[in-house]
Amino acid sequence: MRARAGDGPEGRNHQCVFAAIIDYEMLPCNALVLRCDAIDANRTLTLNALARASSSTPSVLVCGGGIGGLAAALALARQGVRVKVLEQAQELGEIGAGVQLGPNAFSAFDALGIGARARGRAVYTDRLMLLDALDGSEIANVPLGDAFRARFGNPYAVIHRADIHLSLLEGVQANGRIELETSARVERIEQNGDRVTVTDQRQRSFEADAVIGCDGGKSVVRQQYVGDNARVSGHVVYRAVVDEAEFPVELKQNAPVVWCGPNCHLVQYPLRGGQQYNVVVTFHSRQSETWSVTDGSQEEVLSYFTDIVPQARRLLSLPKSWRRWATADREPIEQWTFGRATLLGDAAHPMLQYLAQGACMALEDSVTLGEAVRASNGDMVAAFERYQRSRVARTARVLLMTREMGRIYHAKGVERLVRNELWKGRTPERFYDALEWLYGWKPDRCLAD
Ligand SMILES: Cc1cc2nc3c(=O)[nH]c(=O)nc-3n(C[C@H](O)[C@H](O)[C@H](O)COP(=O)(O)OP(=O)(O)OC[C@H]3O[C@@H](n4cnc5c(N)ncnc54)[C@H](O)[C@@H]3O)c2cc1C
Repeated sequence: MRARAGDGPEGRNHQCVFAAIIDYEMLPCNALVLRCDAIDANRTLTLNALARASSSTPSVLVCGGGIGGLAAALALARQGVRVKVLEQAQELGEIGAGVQLGPNAFSAFDALGIGARARGRAVYTDRLMLLDALDGSEIANVPLGDAFRARFGNPYAVIHRADIHLSLLEGVQANGRIELETSARVERIEQNGDRVTVTDQRQRSFEADAVIGCDGGKSVVRQQYVGDNARVSGHVVYRAVVDEAEFPVELKQNAPVVWCGPNCHLVQYPLRGGQQYNVVVTFHSRQSETWSVTDGSQEEVLSYFTDIVPQARRLLSLPKSWRRWATADREPIEQWTFGRATLLGDAAHPMLQYLAQGACMALEDSVTLGEAVRASNGDMVAAFERYQRSRVARTARVLLMTREMGRIYHAKGVERLVRNELWKGRTPERFYDALEWLYGWKPDRCLAD
């Protein structure tokens, strides 16, 4: 349908914008979007005044502005929902560490409209390698080249966390329907009929039609609605980023390399075009741990990993400083939607890091939520139910498989011998078949009936 170009209010930009309107569409949520050719070809301009005039345009509060929160905001805004993101930190950002991305993450990036931005910042690795840290032998070698991409329609990559967050943030900032509110720590949610009210630490109230808890593993929203306890793993992760100049040539590989040892493992991979290397080492702590992130100590990390080959142990002396995560997950739950409130990302399914899929799942959640809103014509209660139905089993499977993967990585004694036999002689195709359930996720098949 064509709209007539009208006379805009005074001011050159407005005139230019109004004169340039060439088309409009009704989004699933009855928001009216006017397309114009005056800004740039890919940009849609929402006339907020008109959108607001439509009383049925849903509004959503997103608690938390991490990878999950920004991705959720983007997915909803692309369906015409007005979104306000409430983030506790003074500034939006991510920690200094890398993250691995399966092809499923790239399918999600494309659905969120930020595929090109994320691809431009990722490092594409040639293979995924598992080595035995006790003798240096190869346990598995999964090629990630053309055959892998052809199979899954997308690459495997590694990326700095700040670069994913930035890609999402740029997408958010380019979307006129999303507002960001920093220094807003969510404390409480109330549902009153068809509205929700969120209160922050300064007793400010924010109102909307629905709320999504994207506030991470220690989610306040989950605490209010589920109230379950975390399961502290006793596994401690040390993470650091090392400049390429400091990284030994003999250790350089264009691959995530996982050194598997008894009760421990070490991971290395390049970041930012190979200018940096991510180093992540995990061990079973000797002491009782609580779920926390603190500064690490070189002395502590060196006191573990004493039996492994010198090549792998060398990774421990590279970082100038470390951050230390005492990790936890939670048991999978069947219900994370409660009327007009739902959970997403680590708030819904906090998992350990052994499958490198927590952020990928948050991205998939977000796309699925957007699709559920579209399929429910903007009825947020129906959409949240459908989103939950579409995600619980898949994310629970990943969470449980992640624990299993940790056991495989950290195998010792006979279990180690079994592990080292598991993938001997496996062809790439057999690896790809085994990974199909995880990496073969696609936005156009993401909704349950
Ligand atoms: C060692 C390690 C390695 C990992 N490696 C990978 C990997 O390779 N690949 C992968 O896909 N995943 C990986 N993950 C998992 C991934 O980091 C998480 O799953 C992902 O960051 C979850 O995103 P999120 O937005 O749900 O939560 P978070 O990243 O925790 O973001 C939550 C946001 O909410 C804010 N917030 C918290 N409470 C409140 C509140 N009350 N009010 C307002 N704001 C609040 C926080 O400040 C934060 O900005 C790894 C995790 C770890 C620990």
